[in-house]
Amino acid sequence: MKKMAFIDMEGVLIPELWKHFSTVLNIPELAVTTREVADYKSLMNFRINILKENNIPLTKLVELIKEIDASPNAKEFLEYLKNNKKFEVKIISDCFYEFLDPFFDKLNLPINNAYCHNLEINSNGYIENVIYNRKKGKHEIIVNYQKEKVPLKNSIAIGDAFNDFTMLHLVDHGFLFQPSEEVSKNSPFYFHKVESYQEIIQYLTYNRVA
Ligand SMILES: [Mg+2]
Repeated sequence: MKKMAFIDMEGVLIPELWKHFSTVLNIPELAVTTREVADYKSLMNFRINILKENNIPLTKLVELIKEIDASPNAKEFLEYLKNNKKFEVKIISDCFYEFLDPFFDKLNLPINNAYCHNLEINSNGYIENVIYNRKKGKHEIIVNYQKEKVPLKNSIAIGDAFNDFTMLHLVDHGFLFQPSEEVSKNSPFYFHKVESYQEIIQYLTYNRVA
């Protein structure tokens, strides 16, 4: 039977990219997150304007991204899920293919197993807009699998923030990975809060999710 692992990217497998941009470019406003601006689309419009005001084209951001490594042991964790626990790994991220591209190689993941958004770039090379590939949230991807009658028993989802809640709700085992206090406080009791990949592996082994 097919078992899926639906996994978020930023904050789970790779560091937060906007935080990195903010630090390296010395633009504090870029560190604003959905905790300060609750609506993701408004937040992205805010970020796009800040980038334009500071004359930062996509190529500059891509350059910065190349310096970032995946989180320590992320690749090994994915290999373990795939090889030892026989999960099919799907990445569900609210980030963009244009940013995430280098990480698929680093994590040995096929890009066609990922569900992200796209960026619209204007003729001057600046980010103009976001092309959202889903309307409501990450759960839409899982619902599509359910509609196709893919059996999802014992599937898992791993995320770190509020935008992951809807996908964590739809699987048998939902993990909140190193959540902030705010996220943790507002999460349902049946999400498993974990601080490391090792804790997830232990949970899967102990509960025989294999
Ligand atoms: Mg995240």
